Amino acid sequence: MKGPRPRDPDFAALLGPQGPLAKQSFYEHRPGQVAMAQAVWGALRHESFLLAEAGTGTGKSLAYLLPALHLDRRVVVSTGTKALQEQLARKDLPLCEKLLGRPLRAVTVKGRANYLCLYYWRLFKAQPLFSSPQEGRHLAAVASWAEETRTGDKAEWEGLPEDLPFWRDINARGERCLGSHCPLYEECHVVLLRRQAEAAEVVVTNHHLLFADLALKNRWDAAALPAYAHLVLDEAHEAEDTATSFFGTSASKRMLQEWLGDAAKAFKGEGHGPLLGALADAGQASQFFFGRFEGQERRESLRPEFMSPDVQALRDRLGMRLDSAALALESEKGTEEALGLVERLDAWREAFDFALDAGEDGYVRWMEVRGKNVVFGSSPIEVGPILQDHLFSRLNGAVLTSATLTVGGSFGYLRGRLGIPARAEELRVPSPFDYASQGLFYVPSRFPDPSSEDFQEALAQAVTELVCLSRGRAFVLCTSVRSMNAVAEALEGRVPYPILVQGDEPKGLLLDRFRKAGNAVLVATVSFWQGVDVQGEALSLVILDKLPFAVPSDPLTQARIEHLRKAGEDPFNAYQLPSAAILLQQGAGRLIRSAKDRGVVACFDIRLRRRGYGKTLLKSLPPFTFTDALDDVEAFFAQENAGE
Ligand code: SF4
Repeated sequence: MKGPRPRDPDFAALLGPQGPLAKQSFYEHRPGQVAMAQAVWGALRHESFLLAEAGTGTGKSLAYLLPALHLDRRVVVSTGTKALQEQLARKDLPLCEKLLGRPLRAVTVKGRANYLCLYYWRLFKAQPLFSSPQEGRHLAAVASWAEETRTGDKAEWEGLPEDLPFWRDINARGERCLGSHCPLYEECHVVLLRRQAEAAEVVVTNHHLLFADLALKNRWDAAALPAYAHLVLDEAHEAEDTATSFFGTSASKRMLQEWLGDAAKAFKGEGHGPLLGALADAGQASQFFFGRFEGQERRESLRPEFMSPDVQALRDRLGMRLDSAALALESEKGTEEALGLVERLDAWREAFDFALDAGEDGYVRWMEVRGKNVVFGSSPIEVGPILQDHLFSRLNGAVLTSATLTVGGSFGYLRGRLGIPARAEELRVPSPFDYASQGLFYVPSRFPDPSSEDFQEALAQAVTELVCLSRGRAFVLCTSVRSMNAVAEALEGRVPYPILVQGDEPKGLLLDRFRKAGNAVLVATVSFWQGVDVQGEALSLVILDKLPFAVPSDPLTQARIEHLRKAGEDPFNAYQLPSAAILLQQGAGRLIRSAKDRGVVACFDIRLRRRGYGKTLLKSLPPFTFTDALDDVEAFFAQENAGE
């Protein structure tokens, strides 16, 4: 990877008005981009850490990719989502190749569930099982793709539904991988990709995979990424949540059922009677145990009293049946499949026991009931110390970047939550957009308090009114599924625009529909507050129902609040307020995505005006023109409509 590259590249020349980037049709001179590229280079080259908040429109992807590609060491670039990863791979890296005038060795590595597992595909093909007759129609297309693909990446699919149910049975996700026991190990797409990544100068991944890789290093299904000492963490404001889920554990009823199904499929037929009997017994014990908790959807903390004598008896019985199934598998004359399945069961049981056995070890234990699935899990209360140990302490250089890293201008919250080394330098690059003239931020001066009974009805009316002013073209971002459903129901029939609701279709499809319609209203919850990019007039109004405070009854939020309280800190100011401030910035940030975008953000949480902390939240937002007058919103849209 070493080559005759300049020691200190001239980013001002590369990205400036006389440079190769200026030849591109979309070029705009962005001094902030040059400043960021120089700072990123400084951090990577001189083995230090940089926190870079780059306002929307800075062009931060090029500002970190170009320095990364000049370094003579491998750099891992991690983004928040697969969509952003695709954008780097399909748009930004090819552009870098042009600008640098040399071929790049860049590899994109996604989560394992994106790739075809040759082993489970072989089993499935021999005995396909579909959830509906329609699903079966896609088998031939998948089979011909599976024959031809060189990557096994499902993103290559054309004309196949994104959410094909049987993909679950044939993907390469780690929890069911047989690892080196797999008879197809040497041909495995995931194994081959890992080898390509070993030879790459830039490896583009996402936070899910980055943290899964760190959390599982040394485990049979891990080490998806090659060794690296330099990291760029984009969308770094999402890192705490993703790290929390991957440094925690979970064991679900569905995972166990899948294991039982896979084991039965692998050893079907004559000669496996004792094993199949043991698997059937284990399946029954699993039904008894998990059936005890099925019912109303909920997520709750597991307190020690959860393990009542009857729950303990059901758990013991399940444990004995799983022991018998594992013994029966081991006696299958040491086949590789059997060994892989035993390891997989061991991993499930380890996570299950860890979640159920309470301990004072910095983890919160919880149970979640969703539909027919029951999940037991554990999550670290603080990920900062874990990231320090597992990540930052072994890196030579790192850049953490996002459009939203600060609260009230300070990086203190992010530093504390992620355990970022004190020596990390800071850079804030303001957005080049003119928020004051491009956008209006409306908070009414009078509105029911979000906790009052009248709030939902008033919200429905206000949303209807605004959506008519904007002629659709709106996101309504809610803080709960309940509010989302109530708003969607209120809008149906009251406004003449297509209403799209989160959950009706996969996220990507909903967004495509929204863009194409040009006058649609999309009603969604927290997963649409960030990482969603709709440029142009299709999105001219963003409505936020309430301030996005984490639900205090959620087990993890509760545990974090208790933890801070015990440490003598004020949980509201140290955790709840700053995390809401970042999410609020993200939600409001959906509106202005380019220099030409114009529109209104409306927030119906009156606490922004009435509570002292409202000032901190408003101060963290981009410099919109703020108003409490509906007349201003009317005038804004009237002017827009007149200009068309
Ligand atoms: S190694 Fe794992 S992912 Fe690869 S083919 Fe085998 S079971 Fe599937």
